[in-house]
Amino acid sequence: MRILVLGGTGEARALAAALVADGMDVISSLAGRVQQPRRPEGSVRIGGFGGVDGLAAFLRDDDITAVVDATHPFAATITRNAAIGAEQVGVPRLVLRRPGWDIQSSWQVVADMPAAARAVRTWSGESVFLTTGRRDLAVFADDDRHRFLVRTVDPPEGPVPPQTTLLLDRGPYTLDGERALLREYGVGLLVTKNSGGSMTAAKLQAARELSVPVVMVQRPPLPEGSEVVATVADALAWIIRSGSGAG
Ligand code: NAP
Repeated sequence: MRILVLGGTGEARALAAALVADGMDVISSLAGRVQQPRRPEGSVRIGGFGGVDGLAAFLRDDDITAVVDATHPFAATITRNAAIGAEQVGVPRLVLRRPGWDIQSSWQVVADMPAAARAVRTWSGESVFLTTGRRDLAVFADDDRHRFLVRTVDPPEGPVPPQTTLLLDRGPYTLDGERALLREYGVGLLVTKNSGGSMTAAKLQAARELSVPVVMVQRPPLPEGSEVVATVADALAWIIRSGSGAG
């Protein structure tokens, strides 16, 4: 019985720890994007599989009996590849995904990152706080009118807006800290994506308190037919139900 956990999130690490504690054979897979990833317990492999075919071959060659896709809600490519690859090989697949934040009526909700960039371009204020991730900055790069405070875990690799202040940091963030940050940089607009979870939610509360408007990017849709749970406990129950658990 071997479980592949597609990771890169706190939920994936918690699931791997729970599986190890239950004596199960678990391999966590990380993309290898961040310089110092938080390593899950149990076996870990790092790097892409080489598309759907590579992932399907891995499932077959490593005798994987179930896949739990516990990747970030915005990691749409690996989620799609896992759906197709697992189906090809006939391996059961579960998506473990934390719920999104409840949509506030005051937020401007947009479908994707280009739509967020368009919303910023028409905003008449000056200082924008971008917490959309380092790989989503290119769409903002030709905006030379606004000042951007950009917070990422690792430095961006692609183009960034000309007036960018870069803040390298990794959550969890506190309400006091987020409040102080918004004040220090005179932030007038927060642009973020609906990652959900508690680690990065404090900025939303701080924005509400300081009447800073929010542009919120919606999650990409999950592949059709995906079975989804929101908690590690439910993922464990599914693994046992699907006949992949030890014992
Ligand atoms: P993505 O766009 O969905 O995937 C791009 C490619 O990266 C995939 O096709 C795959 O390469 C490889 N990949 C992604 N996740 C992988 C994994 N767990 N194990 C092995 N290969 C993986 O992914 P992304 O948005 O760049 O995110 C990369 C990783 O960072 C994910 O594991 C995700 O959980 C984590 N993360 C993402 C975000 C975010 O905002 N997107 C935030 C926090 C953490 P191949 O095609 O070669 O297999």
